[in-house]
Amino acid sequence: MDDDSRIETRAIHAGQEPDPETGALMTPIHANSTYEQDAPGAHRGYEYSRTGNPTRTDLEANLAALEGGAHGRAFSSGMGAINTVLNLLSAGDHVVTSDDVYGGTHRIFTQVYEEYDLSFSFVDTTDPEAVADAVRPETELVWVETPTNPLMRIADIGALAEVAHAAGALCAVDNTFATPYLQRPLEHGADIVSHSLTKYLGGHSDTVGGALVTDDADLDERIGFYQNAVGATPGPFDCFLVLRGTKTLPVRMDRHCENARRLAAWLQGQSCVDRVYYPGLESHPQHDLAARQMDDFGGMLSFELDATLDEAGTVVSETEVFTLAESLGGVESLIEQPAAMTHAAIPPEEREAIGLTDGLIRASVGVEHADDLEADLRRAFEAAGLY
Ligand SMILES: *Cc1c(COP(=O)(O)O)cnc(C)c1O
Repeated sequence: MDDDSRIETRAIHAGQEPDPETGALMTPIHANSTYEQDAPGAHRGYEYSRTGNPTRTDLEANLAALEGGAHGRAFSSGMGAINTVLNLLSAGDHVVTSDDVYGGTHRIFTQVYEEYDLSFSFVDTTDPEAVADAVRPETELVWVETPTNPLMRIADIGALAEVAHAAGALCAVDNTFATPYLQRPLEHGADIVSHSLTKYLGGHSDTVGGALVTDDADLDERIGFYQNAVGATPGPFDCFLVLRGTKTLPVRMDRHCENARRLAAWLQGQSCVDRVYYPGLESHPQHDLAARQMDDFGGMLSFELDATLDEAGTVVSETEVFTLAESLGGVESLIEQPAAMTHAAIPPEEREAIGLTDGLIRASVGVEHADDLEADLRRAFEAAGLY
């Protein structure tokens, strides 16, 4: 396939040639652990499925093509991918990252890798100077998430990659929220892109997976070493599901963005809503940066209700089209209350300090009809006595 083709075309075709033997269009699910060798060591590209599996190979090629990188590696979860980036570091190394990084990322940093003598600084990554100030001689990684979860803060990937490179560190970007359809961090100078495939790339809330993409062959070789040595690799059926998902990524994202834009505007006009966090709104503090760095603003939004923890809890319990659940990025709309769910592990004072108030609600806006989503929220606000 032509490497210059557009992302809509790559999503469907990259890494997915019809099977040369049978002509089957779809990549088969190679449910298989080991491979025949012609002589000891003389294999035909595959020897054992932890090391490589043909279904996974097609997915990895597809993901690399979507991000505009030369090399993709798939993992059994987003955390498996993130763990592998940390495997690249050594005891004594230091990492600078965002103070509202994904909860699981915060957990693996502080509860797993601090034990292995890595250290982490959590700073406001919307401010490149704060990141530069946090850099130390032993800094080896700047870990960026943009937009962040759940406050949709936007970090300037190009500026942070420069800060990282000036320090001789790698810049890795968790691109789960934006997806490569809206934002391609490698184009802005990042060294590694990380994904939870569980979210938009899989897109149907039916599998868990992760990925790393890089343009650097040496880096990819090191990532591949840990992928095989540690073994958090996905099975072929999961790879098949994600490949099925990526084909429709562009059309799904268009609708996610359209629906989120519309709901964000509607929420802004509601008297019980104090604040809407959506990078597509002109009121968003980094709206201009988002407009430069992203092709559209995504399907995730948060809003702060003028409500108690219980009232906000009633809102998310009363919705019917929005399902009360953690996770995001599927075709169906999900809603949750960070202070009671995804971010409950953060101590209340710390939560309040970074803006995760009791009345904050996060929505993963799905691809249903926007009228139904709006009516659903209106009904839930009424049920909670907020109208
Ligand atoms: C879900 C998520 C992860 C972790 O991915 P899993 O597939 O759940 O392991 C990492 N980063 C972000 C931004 C996520 O939303």
